[in-house]
Amino acid sequence: MRRNRRVKLVATIGPASESPEMLEKLFDAGVDVFRINMSHASHELAGQLHERVREISARRQYPIGILGDLQGPKFRLGPFAGERVNVTQGSEFVFDRLEKPGSAERVYLPHPQIFEAVEPGHTLLLDDGKLRMRVTKSGADRIVAQVQIGGPLASRKGISLPDTLLPISPLTEKDHKDLQFLLGIGVDWIALSFVQRGQDVLEARKVIGDRAAIMVKVEKPQAIDDLNAIIAAADGFMVARGDLGVEMPIEKVPGLQKKITRKARGAGKPVVVATQMLESMITSPVPTRAEVSDVATAVFEGADAVMLSAESAVGKYPIEAIEMMNRIAIEVENDKGYEAILHAWQAQPLPTPSDAIAAAAHAIADTVQLAAIVCYTATGSTALRVARERPGLPVMGLTPVAATAHKLAVVWGLHSVVVKSDPVSVTDMVNQACRIAFDQGFVKAGEGILVTGGVPLGQSGTTNMIRIAFVNDKGEPVASG
Ligand code: PGA
Ligand code: MN
Repeated sequence: MRRNRRVKLVATIGPASESPEMLEKLFDAGVDVFRINMSHASHELAGQLHERVREISARRQYPIGILGDLQGPKFRLGPFAGERVNVTQGSEFVFDRLEKPGSAERVYLPHPQIFEAVEPGHTLLLDDGKLRMRVTKSGADRIVAQVQIGGPLASRKGISLPDTLLPISPLTEKDHKDLQFLLGIGVDWIALSFVQRGQDVLEARKVIGDRAAIMVKVEKPQAIDDLNAIIAAADGFMVARGDLGVEMPIEKVPGLQKKITRKARGAGKPVVVATQMLESMITSPVPTRAEVSDVATAVFEGADAVMLSAESAVGKYPIEAIEMMNRIAIEVENDKGYEAILHAWQAQPLPTPSDAIAAAAHAIADTVQLAAIVCYTATGSTALRVARERPGLPVMGLTPVAATAHKLAVVWGLHSVVVKSDPVSVTDMVNQACRIAFDQGFVKAGEGILVTGGVPLGQSGTTNMIRIAFVNDKGEPVASG
């Protein structure tokens, strides 16, 4: 099986999509990576979902990625007497450490770190930014704020602090437990929520090691301030527009999406554009024109993947939403203007053998008009450098490591195949590449492929070789085209 688009599709699993039948239908409709959201899934459910996706992947012999998304430090207010109050604009509102139900004048805030870090002048956003306050006084157990935008406020709603650098790790106690569970079952990617600094990623890496790749959800202004360090430290990124649009003025989100996408592409690390992409399809079988245009924009920008959240988790039309994304992606990638827009900005190769090989492979394949680039990759790093070039032909990643193939499922343009073993010779390597590309329909008789690999064989980090091979009608290499 192969997909006829380069951008990848991520779908969040939820009650609307968690049955084995629905998961397989979503896979058939185009899902490359499934997201398990630990804000909602129990360990038992997460384990079942993981097993179901792995079962489909094995039976269909196609690598599907699994992303375990940690809740992160999401701060919540304490309860209100009667569950709900009305906070009036212009009034004073107090956050304190008194564990008793709140009123229209005060509420319990069960997070001592906030009291430590907040300063007069900082903004407080409540209930996804619907209410806004400005801090006038702060202390160890009392924060006084002026209400700028009031309204109804219910028990345990979220509070965000866009101006405050909080002295916290991005992994809460719940996250640590969830993380150990997710690493135990063997998910491919771990998503970290509400990361503030590059250092946060390094701390998470100490726990995760190389057991999973790390995707940073960029959703805080503090993360934008430390973006270069975050890009350097993580393996992939999510433009998490939901919380980003709460913590930053919403009109800044499109520019930030472009900035994050470009930096991630420059680093050769996958970037996922997420949240509200086809939001109206939660309740409608047809999206709005603006939503279609939003998905198209992410594809034109060269994002690695676009994601569905509530649309596939709790919506009425999960399959239709993935089919829609699939159609938009194919249409954009076949648009006459696509290549020019995609390459309007191009990452320059670094002075390393693998980048030289990746850039040369791209140039050769274009010059000779080959049918596919086939790269042998153990850890996935060579395939990532080739994908970074955003070449105009399919890229196959051949790897003996199943985990590598699953991890690469989120990467732009990569079709990974798990091979039984490393080739024993360069001849064997070229034979196997031709055979697999031919069998999977990536090359036809008379067409050629480009093979990258490394000698000595089977040793990772040695990509140093390019071969061009043309295939005959049996899928065997022949001397020339
Ligand atoms: P969430 O993250 O869906 O876990 O909140 C994505 C976002 O904030 O956009
Ligand atoms: Mn979020």
